[in-house]
Amino acid sequence: MIERPTIHLFQRDFRIADNPALSAAASAGPVIPLYVLDDGASGEWAMGAASRWWLHGSLASLQSDLRQRGSDLVLRRGDAVAIVTSLLEETQAAAVHMTRAHEPLARQLETRLKTLCNRQGVAFRRYPGSLLAEPEEIRSKSGEGFRVFTPFYRALTDKPPRAPLPAPLLLSAPAQWPASDDLDAWGLLPRAPDWARGLRATWTPGEKVAQARVRRMIERGLGSYIEGRDRPDRAATSMLSPSLRFGEISPRQCWQALSMAAEGDARLAAGANALLRQLAWREFFHHLLYHWPDLAEAPLRSEFGEFPWDSDAARAAKRLRAWTRGQTGYPIVDAGMRQLWETGWMHNRVRMITASFLTKHLLIHWRLGANWFWDTLVDADLANNSGGWQWVAGSGADAAPYFRIFNPVLQGQKFDPDGAYVRRFAPELARLPERYIHAPWEAPAECLAAAGVRLGVDYPMPIIDHATARRQALAAWRNMKDSSANIEA
Ligand SMILES: Cc1cc2nc3c(=O)[nH]c(=O)nc-3n(C[C@H](O)[C@H](O)[C@H](O)COP(=O)(O)OP(=O)(O)OC[C@H]3O[C@@H](n4cnc5c(N)ncnc54)[C@H](O)[C@@H]3O)c2cc1C
Repeated sequence: MIERPTIHLFQRDFRIADNPALSAAASAGPVIPLYVLDDGASGEWAMGAASRWWLHGSLASLQSDLRQRGSDLVLRRGDAVAIVTSLLEETQAAAVHMTRAHEPLARQLETRLKTLCNRQGVAFRRYPGSLLAEPEEIRSKSGEGFRVFTPFYRALTDKPPRAPLPAPLLLSAPAQWPASDDLDAWGLLPRAPDWARGLRATWTPGEKVAQARVRRMIERGLGSYIEGRDRPDRAATSMLSPSLRFGEISPRQCWQALSMAAEGDARLAAGANALLRQLAWREFFHHLLYHWPDLAEAPLRSEFGEFPWDSDAARAAKRLRAWTRGQTGYPIVDAGMRQLWETGWMHNRVRMITASFLTKHLLIHWRLGANWFWDTLVDADLANNSGGWQWVAGSGADAAPYFRIFNPVLQGQKFDPDGAYVRRFAPELARLPERYIHAPWEAPAECLAAAGVRLGVDYPMPIIDHATARRQALAAWRNMKDSSANIEA
């Protein structure tokens, strides 16, 4: 008798090891690994261009890893439910498995697939795997989700996560493979113009590389993570965010590797704990999105619905354009925006500085910044991106107080003291001495001339004066508080 296969629908779990849904499918019999590119369902949150670049590489790597194990990856494009419906008929599959994801659209898909499977008399099973703990497992005393990080962190670390699973020993193939699209024909990679050169030079997507990155982090960087993690001029962070986004590695695998490496060595333990804390921020924002599904659309602190963003549309559009192009005249901001454009990634400290500059200096809505990040980041993630933007803008969970407005010059001097980061991503400033690298407009004329910088020609003058911007931002904030107090009165 032919064994009925299980369809494993990959979503954000592009890995073979520590994939409970795939392991369970493998132990039940033949498996049909499937990925469906369903652009239509995602609307505004369809994957951005940089993420699609990563998706191509990650799918190619997963397909090759599965083939090496005698399996394969079936690729289809269209409505995921319609495709699973026709595959159930074609393959007589007995079950559909998937790893749970927590974005609103992923949850809708789970519900639709569950209904379909119930109707067809096929088992539907979803498994944990994207997070260290499922949202139902971490609740505040009132039974709700946490809005403040520290108690969330305590609750999360109270019980260590379950140990990760090894890769399944056997992935049996179905009696017949369903037809698959050709990945190259999906057109996920840019052609004309080919803007992905910097991405190719920076990244190699895939499960093996993600695991190697964790190992390298442990071997080289863990001890120096604490001092180095805020320094964009040093390669001190793990750069695991796109791999975590696509599930090439699970947070549990990272947690276990870091915890084991840190055992018995106080310096490594301190580094590991600092990194685990960042993983907990990822967890916090994912739980937050689960409990507040409109996190990407609406301010978590409702008074920010009244925030007086710049109402001069032409000025705001011009400034937004300067920000996206890295032409604000503030070197640390411009270097960050250019790092993003060139490599599809930006250092966390600089994400905070650039987001603060857009929302507070330019009074431009955080959603416009989040949209730009969405299109240009290889790690674009609805929970982390919306959570991060709202945190910086002051409207989010446990956000930085609004009146803490980053001074981009001081931030540059503190976190890129020699200006190496600016010199790398804004090379027209490379010959400026340290003293002026973060404030070129303060440099004497002869110093600018010696460095080959003509302000306003080779590099812009600041598009806004910091002290003026700060005053305006604080006035806007007071305005918002007054109008929300009036609404309440
Ligand atoms: C405005 C803004 C937007 C952001 N958008 C995204 C996004 O779309 N996708 C994304 O993955 N991260 C986002 N972040 C969080 C953070 O900047 C990146 O996760 C981090 O820079 C990735 O680099 P890394 O892997 O070297 O981090 P490491 O320092 O090595 O940290 C390890 C992992 O922990 C998680 N992590 C680290 N810092 C944070 C954080 N502050 N919040 C949530 N998770 C964190 C990431 O998964 C990261 O890979 C955003 C932050 C801000 C301020």
